[in-house]
Amino acid sequence: MIVNNSLDEVKKRESAFRIIKKILEEKGRDSLFDVTGLSGGFIASKKELELLETYVGPAVFEDEIQIVGKEHLGGEKVLPVNRTSAGILATVLALVGEGSHVAHFLADYPGHPSIPRSCALAGASYEEFIDINEFAIPDNTSLVVITGSTMDLQVIDEDLFTQVISRAHEKDIPVLVDDASGARLRTAVFNQKRATDLGADLVVTSTDKLMPGPRGGLMAGRAELIDEIKIKVNQFGLEAQPPLIMAMINGIKAYTPEVLRKSVSRKEEFYGLISKKYEMFEKTPNGIKVQEANLANQLKVLNIETELSEKDCCFLWSMVLLKEEGIITIPAVGMPGASDTIRFDLSTKDVIDMDLDVLQDKIDNSFDVFLDLVQKVEMAEKLIFFDE
Ligand SMILES: *Cc1c(COP(=O)(O)O)cnc(C)c1O
Repeated sequence: MIVNNSLDEVKKRESAFRIIKKILEEKGRDSLFDVTGLSGGFIASKKELELLETYVGPAVFEDEIQIVGKEHLGGEKVLPVNRTSAGILATVLALVGEGSHVAHFLADYPGHPSIPRSCALAGASYEEFIDINEFAIPDNTSLVVITGSTMDLQVIDEDLFTQVISRAHEKDIPVLVDDASGARLRTAVFNQKRATDLGADLVVTSTDKLMPGPRGGLMAGRAELIDEIKIKVNQFGLEAQPPLIMAMINGIKAYTPEVLRKSVSRKEEFYGLISKKYEMFEKTPNGIKVQEANLANQLKVLNIETELSEKDCCFLWSMVLLKEEGIITIPAVGMPGASDTIRFDLSTKDVIDMDLDVLQDKIDNSFDVFLDLVQKVEMAEKLIFFDE
């Protein structure tokens, strides 16, 4: 095993950044292809950047994010935070008492790690459900969480969404929706309503998922709850700073659901192409992916033996994709605990117009190198903890 714990994941991430920097310096930005769906855009005009230096700017942006954010997410009040995880933590700190319970409903396991971690910090018990017939809200429940679209972009059924909300509200329990990517994916591609329009009390989205914004979290919902959460946000330094808020506003304004929809039809074509050669790919709403078990299975089909764990195989291929082809996927650059699924999001600006044959060649080449490296553990380890 090469990547065994959070520290290894941090080191792996640092090594991915070294590779990205090397490619940038040697070949330029055009040789990098970010298909994570998290592109961290930072749109800003010169005039806006100048505003940041005065006391006037923050006042302007705080006011504007209320307007732009409410249009995007609905709700009575908006709260910009440092990350989606920060919004989740602040909500749990504000609403979940020690010894209480949090019930989470989602389309597929697992929920984002920040949710169980926040509950553990608050001293609350926590349970995840993917089957509505098993979904339980014990009497000591303080918060119900719904994930709109999981880290692997599994989208919840809208009927189940409203059922969970009614069951929580029957017991007067507030509902937080983790709509990190769902706020756009559900609405643009699945024609679902915004979480607040479905009755959710609170929603949080990630402003760099499937939109040209910066890594940040945007919350919206009932004003009285947002105010309670805002206190925790300020007490623990979880709020978004003015430059982040400015870029969030511009990212939301620049977001177009059409780009997301275009990637849906390209996905069908690409899946058809690539599945002629491999068994491991599956479709996502806006691209394709390879899950841990399917990658392991593909190795078996090819009669390739390896001492690496299934997770290590994901990290390794992701690093090869980066080093050999400049393709950036989550397992290489993700935070500790992020999904190890290798996902190719076709809606990102680096590949939205790329010839699909060219993209397939890149994937083929990287896979050949990967097949060689899975049999050479020492070299694989060197690449994962790349230092040059
Ligand atoms: C990405 C994601 C998060 C966390 O976003 P961060 O910006 O990393 O805090 C939470 N929940 C889901 C479902 C996500 O996909």
